[in-house]
Amino acid sequence: MANLSKRLQTNVEGNFFVDSTCIDCDTCRQLAPLTFIEDGDYSTVFRQPETAKEELAAYQALIACPVGSIGTEKKDRKVFLEAQASFPLPIECGVDYVGFNSEKSFGANSYFIKHSQGNWLVDSPRFLKHLVQAFEEKGGIRFIFLSHEDDVAEAARYAKHFNAIRIIHRADASAMPGAEQVIDGENSVHVAPEFVCIPVPGHTPGSMALLYKNRFLFSGDHLWWNPNLQQLGTPERLVWDDAQLKRSVKKLLTHSFEWVMPGHGERIHLPHREMKNALDQLLQRRWNLQSLPF
Ligand code: SF4
Repeated sequence: MANLSKRLQTNVEGNFFVDSTCIDCDTCRQLAPLTFIEDGDYSTVFRQPETAKEELAAYQALIACPVGSIGTEKKDRKVFLEAQASFPLPIECGVDYVGFNSEKSFGANSYFIKHSQGNWLVDSPRFLKHLVQAFEEKGGIRFIFLSHEDDVAEAARYAKHFNAIRIIHRADASAMPGAEQVIDGENSVHVAPEFVCIPVPGHTPGSMALLYKNRFLFSGDHLWWNPNLQQLGTPERLVWDDAQLKRSVKKLLTHSFEWVMPGHGERIHLPHREMKNALDQLLQRRWNLQSLPF
């Protein structure tokens, strides 16, 4: 719960504020970009919500914040409850952004996929009654895809509750002892109809992306959209092996997708061709690679 006495000086006056416990995970900036902005090592309120829609988004950010750093001088309980009930937030084709990001995964995003042959959870949010009920109403969880060792959070509790199959790469498997399915090596694996696990070592030895319907790429901390630069990004710090990272980004050119759904950073939807161009430009920028034919 945010503490008014720790309110950052950078917040504009008004109801919503961020306090000094913020870990700069960027969740609030994704959910309410008209209210929150990055300022140094923190997020801050640069503009108070002015419409009902903006207020709802600010409350969604308050609820999703993994460390409870967002507060209000006066809580509007009705809008707060409306915001709480709105999670998971639908994106497209039965894919939801779950919300309730966990501090255990440094505030990483998690996603839910409704599928006729069993639903998926991609990385883990906090384990909360509200989410358990929401997942139960959607038919439970059959698979839990873990993009890498940092974002497992409460996956073990969700797996136990839903009797779900946890999928992780062997090189990061020590973060999830007892995982039911462990992926080896660097070859892509069709784990279920329409679902492909793509090992993308680089950030960690066992990083993986999940490709769904050749449309959605759940990319963990391997790839994200930078809205300020309007370009794809990949880790520059916290890289286990840069040569592997380069190969892993290049590997994605052999796959087709329109959405990048990251653990951190913004998601992006681009037509196939533009997505390949964005990947190609990332390779050129980051590693001076020649443009590749595709
Ligand atoms: S969601 Fe919370 S921790 Fe993350 S940047 Fe916003 S205020 Fe900081």
